[in-house]
Amino acid sequence: MSVWDDLIGQDHVRAQLGAAARDADALVTAEAQGAEPPEASKMTHAWLFTGPPGAGRTTAARAFAAALQCVSPDRALGGEPGCGFCEGCHTAMIGTHADVTTIAAIGSQILVENMRDTVRMSYTSPANGRWQVILVQDADRLNEKSANAVLKAVEEPASRTVWLLCAPSIEDVLPTIRSRCRALTLRTPPVDAVADMLVRRDGVEPEAAYAAARATQGHIGRARKLATDERARARRATVLKLPLRVADVGAALRAAQELVDAAAEDARQASEEIDAKETEELKAALGAAQGGRMPRGTAGVMKDLEADQKRRKTRTQRDSLDLALSDLTGFYRDVLALQLGARGGPANEDMRDALERTARDSAPEQTLRRIEAVFACRDALDRNVAPLLAVEAMTMALRAG
Ligand SMILES: [Zn+2]
Repeated sequence: MSVWDDLIGQDHVRAQLGAAARDADALVTAEAQGAEPPEASKMTHAWLFTGPPGAGRTTAARAFAAALQCVSPDRALGGEPGCGFCEGCHTAMIGTHADVTTIAAIGSQILVENMRDTVRMSYTSPANGRWQVILVQDADRLNEKSANAVLKAVEEPASRTVWLLCAPSIEDVLPTIRSRCRALTLRTPPVDAVADMLVRRDGVEPEAAYAAARATQGHIGRARKLATDERARARRATVLKLPLRVADVGAALRAAQELVDAAAEDARQASEEIDAKETEELKAALGAAQGGRMPRGTAGVMKDLEADQKRRKTRTQRDSLDLALSDLTGFYRDVLALQLGARGGPANEDMRDALERTARDSAPEQTLRRIEAVFACRDALDRNVAPLLAVEAMTMALRAG
């Protein structure tokens, strides 16, 4: 077992990170012993992890963060940092390490207010004397202000601060930031490797693991959810029935409403629990000294939290709709492959009947138009068009004729 176990099908990235973690460790050790730091080092202060959704950008960044904090005694014997079970590795992996800070977008942006403390901290030394790691999960969602704050910090980093930025592609990050980063590109992991992981780590039956990995086309998180979550399977089945359902205007509008409602329900379920816990924690922190009564002047803080929670809920709903759109795109890709007589079975093998029927009843040009309609819906959602409006436009365009 090691911190790299969940990094699937990314040998080139794994090798670079392993070498950097080793050099980083040598540097810490040399400084602790008052020795000269090693001359050539593969370690650097800013990294940019890019790759398609689900390939494991954050997984790679988190594994690297853990390897940098590894305090396993094996390192002294030439072992690679990142054992996976020492205090440093373990707490970094579960997110409780004092010197590993994770920043994620709440809502569609990372606001500068959410970055300020972190940026300030990035100029200080790590608490444990190793590395101060700041992992920015959605560097593509930095807005102008927060990106500028990060840029300054990346330009003049403290000697033991490491920035790990994750984004879908290099172009999603400001040129001035990315020019300071070492870029690592993850690729879509092979279906077999994802299936193997589901069997090994999650105890999924091999056949179900393969079907889930294939249906999700190398998206690790979605494959795991599909293989292990009954609700996710039911949702996918409903979404993939949509192409056969939208025969007329009434059916198209009903289908749109159902999709949007289901996404809203996902968001409600996901946020209910976490919101209540956050609110309780904040109340406890603010009111602890007041015998449980809320002290004066804290209403603003509570309001900020509520605004954050609302943004997060909107984003969860968006993410849920996004999943449905991916499923639909996959469906029509399969239809197109059948229509064009492409070799290899469909990704959605379990939907073969519906795929064949749709392929028979329509022309390839129509399939292409439908794929475009799904993309247009995603674009509209990105531009904050009201979800129901965007989805209705799509389901209307998916109708026959
Ligand atoms: Zn370790």
